[in-house]
Amino acid sequence: MRIVLILKLLLLKIISNEKISILSLIFILFSSVVFSGEVNIFSARHYDSDIELYKKFTLKTGIKVNVVSGKSNALEKRIIEEGTDSKADLYIVADAGTLGAFEAKGMLQSGLTSKIIKSAVPYNYRTSKWVGIAKRARIIYYAPERVTAEELLGLSYESLANPKWKGRLVIRKSNNIYNQSLVASLIKNNGKEKTADWAKGIVANMARTPKGNDRAQILAVAAGEADIAIANTYYLALMLSGKKGEEQKEAAKKVKPFFPNQEDRGTHMNISGVGLVKNSPNKENAIKLVEFLLSEEAQKHIVNNTFEYPMIEGVSPHPLIVSMGLDFKQDSKTEVVNFGKNQTDALEVMLAAGWK
Ligand code: FE
Repeated sequence: MRIVLILKLLLLKIISNEKISILSLIFILFSSVVFSGEVNIFSARHYDSDIELYKKFTLKTGIKVNVVSGKSNALEKRIIEEGTDSKADLYIVADAGTLGAFEAKGMLQSGLTSKIIKSAVPYNYRTSKWVGIAKRARIIYYAPERVTAEELLGLSYESLANPKWKGRLVIRKSNNIYNQSLVASLIKNNGKEKTADWAKGIVANMARTPKGNDRAQILAVAAGEADIAIANTYYLALMLSGKKGEEQKEAAKKVKPFFPNQEDRGTHMNISGVGLVKNSPNKENAIKLVEFLLSEEAQKHIVNNTFEYPMIEGVSPHPLIVSMGLDFKQDSKTEVVNFGKNQTDALEVMLAAGWK
């Protein structure tokens, strides 16, 4: 393709009787070198900052990055339907459960096993087919004037099912993947039967029928509709940053984060991650991009724009995330591969409990 383009350009110049300067020749040849390879990303992460990051990769390597963005369901449908014709190399999403479920459909392949990847990503956050590129915690937010220090003592996901929280809890719907992964991790740790009972307790404690996104849960606590919410860590920082407007910034100041399960396995951690697609036409470039995403430069870019936790050691999260506290125990025992494995059971117990 490139060669044809260069010949056409040269021909045009000759036809137009234009003198071909050495400079223009160099320019034409150079521009053909710049995009000598490419990699195609199907991304369900909606961050403009990700696009800036891919540009940095292109500048570094000369590999062009093409991005198809959309909702995970639509992207997966397209990759499956296009089969061996699919141009997708990498699938990027914001939950380990999504990657696990796509892997279970046989749509990912092994290959993310280089030394760089393995030494960057702890074992519990990767498989040979997909790896985490950033971490997020799903935590508790509370209203300090309505929740006592005593009530917070030793608080865990499990203990949120206690009747003392009746009418005080908000959390989003059961169709939300973050919730499915949280419940999947509870199934892994406590078994399906116990988790089914737990889900009933949670539903009984809800202050309202689940609605809205994670930020809407934090807003409900700020507005006094509930005393505690469950939501991911980066949403509070996003609200505090002012990027979601003055009103949300003020609301965020009214709630406090709490990291549960400090007395046992630690707080539930999830990932943003990337999977190597089964029919990847540019596998080598795809692996290079994954390695780049795990570099110090890329990790700094990610955490400063998305308020996630870095996947690698030695990179500090955004100051707003630091101010929420870093000295909490993360659940590094429950491998995130379980979120996909237990996803069907998780949804089943939630729906059986009447979790809308
Ligand atoms: Fe999110």
